[in-house]
Amino acid sequence: MFDPKTHCVVVVGAQWGDEGKGKLVDVLAEQADIVVRYQGGANAGHTVVIGDSQFVLHQIPSGILHSRCICMVGNGVVLDPETFFTELDALAARDVATAGRLFVSERAHLVMPYHKLLDVASEKSQQLGTTGRGIGPTYEDKYGRRGIRVGDLRHLETARAQLTERVARANRLLGLMGVAERASLPQHIDLIERLAPRVLPLTCDTGLLVYRSLKEGRRVLLEGAQGALLDVDHGTYPFVTSSNTTAGGAAVGAGIGPTAVDGVLGVVKAYTTRVGNGPLPTEAEPVAAEELRRLGDEFGATTGRPRRCGWFDATVVRFSVRVNGLTGLAVTKLDVLDSFAEIPVGTAYVLDGDACGEMPADVRALERVKPRFEILPGWRRPTSGARRLADLPAEARAYVDRLQDLAGAPIRYVSVGSRRDQIIQV
Ligand code: GDP
Repeated sequence: MFDPKTHCVVVVGAQWGDEGKGKLVDVLAEQADIVVRYQGGANAGHTVVIGDSQFVLHQIPSGILHSRCICMVGNGVVLDPETFFTELDALAARDVATAGRLFVSERAHLVMPYHKLLDVASEKSQQLGTTGRGIGPTYEDKYGRRGIRVGDLRHLETARAQLTERVARANRLLGLMGVAERASLPQHIDLIERLAPRVLPLTCDTGLLVYRSLKEGRRVLLEGAQGALLDVDHGTYPFVTSSNTTAGGAAVGAGIGPTAVDGVLGVVKAYTTRVGNGPLPTEAEPVAAEELRRLGDEFGATTGRPRRCGWFDATVVRFSVRVNGLTGLAVTKLDVLDSFAEIPVGTAYVLDGDACGEMPADVRALERVKPRFEILPGWRRPTSGARRLADLPAEARAYVDRLQDLAGAPIRYVSVGSRRDQIIQV
């Protein structure tokens, strides 16, 4: 993706998340100087496999696994300090040195324990399938202009006063929601007092650093979390996350202008999964879904929840190409389909008897659509050893070509296994 004219690349999920962005970021980070997370929080989980080691990262950009990469948590992220430092300690325990190459935006908002209590309480009534990690309530506070930002920890006296008011407010809300549990102010004060000395040395204006680095000709990778169909504007609302996961959010969340972005890579699975509630039009019938789940190990990296599984949905990916302005696609987990004799691909929808080539905005309409399937022949041979397109069985190659035609964007990578080297660059 990087070349002399392409210095700033965004990697986004082009379906419902869990597409394998962590692996692609890991592969691309090899060529990048800087990796920035731009939205979401500890509800995202990227899994990166290096040799026999597996790293699951929720808050720290997966570029941290490349020793020459500088990593940043951008202003658009909501930072869960407990998870952040647990992850940082786990990296240190495995000899991944992070000193001097991990920065946190002073503008990023903090996820506090009271946000988690509110998240769990509202999930009981709303049933949106959130992870209960406090992400939604933190973004609500951000847009309600009552959030606490990382930079606020520089003035602990003010931060304590802010917290006193916010904890009292959260407890009033918990009362209204009929929940018995209450947030403890001393626990919150203790948390920020413990946290401030650790996070402040990492804190800076990350947008300025990215801007200057781009001016100096460095290569920057902007790492998204979740997927386009979970974007608060473009996703299957209300079954969405609380941030803009699409590429437009990358500029805002990293603190640079949109004209700085040179390329956008959309990561798609060779099939489709979704975790949590909401429509999944190409969901497979139970036996095939179970097979996809087993072969693809489709269980959430953050929550362990089984993912719902279905076939590739071209309407979703076409939509994603449009709303993200994708300049390339990375198809992952092709190897998961190796044993299927036939592979259905959803080419379009039928809505109330009429052909429908675009994603409906209304989730109730999406629940009613019937996908049109095209059945492609399987290849029934392993693909995980392929390193060039020419190494793939003819049917697998035809499958990839068909996905490209239906999606309307060029495929730049095909991933055939979880390991770093199991990738085909097109
Ligand atoms: P992310 O949040 O988009 O990074 O996705 P996850 O990390 O939740 O899920 C991707 C999972 O698929 C991880 O366990 C990866 O190691 C694994 N993975 C990524 N690419 C491939 C692939 O091409 N084949 C297989 N079998 N697994 C893959």
